[in-house]
Amino acid sequence: VRIRPITTQDNLPTRFQRQVLTTSAPNQVVVQADKKQVFSYDYVFGPESTQQDVYDKAIVKLVDNFLEGYNVTILAYGQTSSGKTHTMGTADSHSIPPESKGIIPRAMQTLFSSMNSAHYKSRKFSLKVSFIEIYNEDLIDLLGESFGDSRPQVTIREDTKGNIIWNGLQEMRVNSVDEVMGFLARGSANRQVGATDMNAQSSRSHAIFSVTMIQQKYVGTSATQAPARPGTPSKMLEPKFGLRPQSSMNNLRQSRRFDEGELVTVTSKFHFVDLAGSERLKRSAAVGDRAKEGISINSGLLALGNVISALGDPNKAKHTTHIPYRDSKLTRLLQDSLGGNAQTLMIACASPAEYNLNETVNTLKYANRARNIKNIATVNQEEAGWHDIEHLQNMVLKLRSEIKSLKS
Ligand code: ADP
Ligand code: MG
Repeated sequence: VRIRPITTQDNLPTRFQRQVLTTSAPNQVVVQADKKQVFSYDYVFGPESTQQDVYDKAIVKLVDNFLEGYNVTILAYGQTSSGKTHTMGTADSHSIPPESKGIIPRAMQTLFSSMNSAHYKSRKFSLKVSFIEIYNEDLIDLLGESFGDSRPQVTIREDTKGNIIWNGLQEMRVNSVDEVMGFLARGSANRQVGATDMNAQSSRSHAIFSVTMIQQKYVGTSATQAPARPGTPSKMLEPKFGLRPQSSMNNLRQSRRFDEGELVTVTSKFHFVDLAGSERLKRSAAVGDRAKEGISINSGLLALGNVISALGDPNKAKHTTHIPYRDSKLTRLLQDSLGGNAQTLMIACASPAEYNLNETVNTLKYANRARNIKNIATVNQEEAGWHDIEHLQNMVLKLRSEIKSLKS
């Protein structure tokens, strides 16, 4: 949970400026209203916390894990104006002062300096970025070429292994932080923004910035793990850094034996999700088209909430086989990041002002439920040479002769 400071832009009547949120150790948020409520989380960042604090404590470890082949997803949740875009850095540009940079530019800096470091010298990396928006249940490619008024549509499908594939998406190859920032700025400029009486810059859509990394590296035979049997839990990470125990690494696609060890190709995905404002429609007094947007935004977040409670309720989880991913584009897109093969961090953003008390308590409760999710550990690792016909043919010959000798 991150609580933002009250800013002059808040423009609140003085009687609503009272701060009702405080933090207390360890990692608790205290709501001081008619009654006192205390909530606990993996991390709590108070109004005085800096962008650097958030990054160092909760994010940098995820970037390291991404480099090692884990899929990672970070979601920013909260009402409009609670600090989602600020925290995530979704709208950051080249010119932003270093201390104000959000998660995306910081993560990109870590990523590129790691890739260029001596430690990873023997690996070959290739990086692509994409940026999409969900607006009124339409998927819009923010980096796609525009055709008149309409921007290209993206469709979702699931492969036989349960991986979610985003079709028709522009993926841009990137070689530097500056290039990434260029695409981020281009996509942000294309986002649908509208004014409500809550925040003139409020964004009424979900934005997902994604980085796909393909790396080739040699692994020594000692480092090679046997392929996990179905149902075998993979090595769990400690539930630090806001992670639930979960997930697998090594999205290994292919491997071949060489003298240096075994050459493997590892693909990993990092999604940075800046969700639409979680406030109730009534509150923003929206009308006409804006009201329609409000309803469908809520349907995405509603579906996300339902998926979270189906996955996160320990009693339900035992009995529920149906998780309602298909109820919205948002949950469908993030299906393999929610209770799937990914390390997922949700950052719930909140305002400390009494004026926002109702929405803040909703956000804190939502985040509490999300905290119960346990992502299912699935190993996405393939045996060496699985796609190599020559290797497989040799294997068949070897097995035949083994069977023959066993029979005799
Ligand atoms: P959201 O994306 O949730 O609608 P924003 O990130 O746009 O909210 O934040 C609303 C305003 O508050 C922006 O002007 C932003 O710069 C400011 N803000 C949010 N969080 C912080 C923070 N932790 N420190 C300083 N300013 C903040
Ligand atoms: Mg925003």
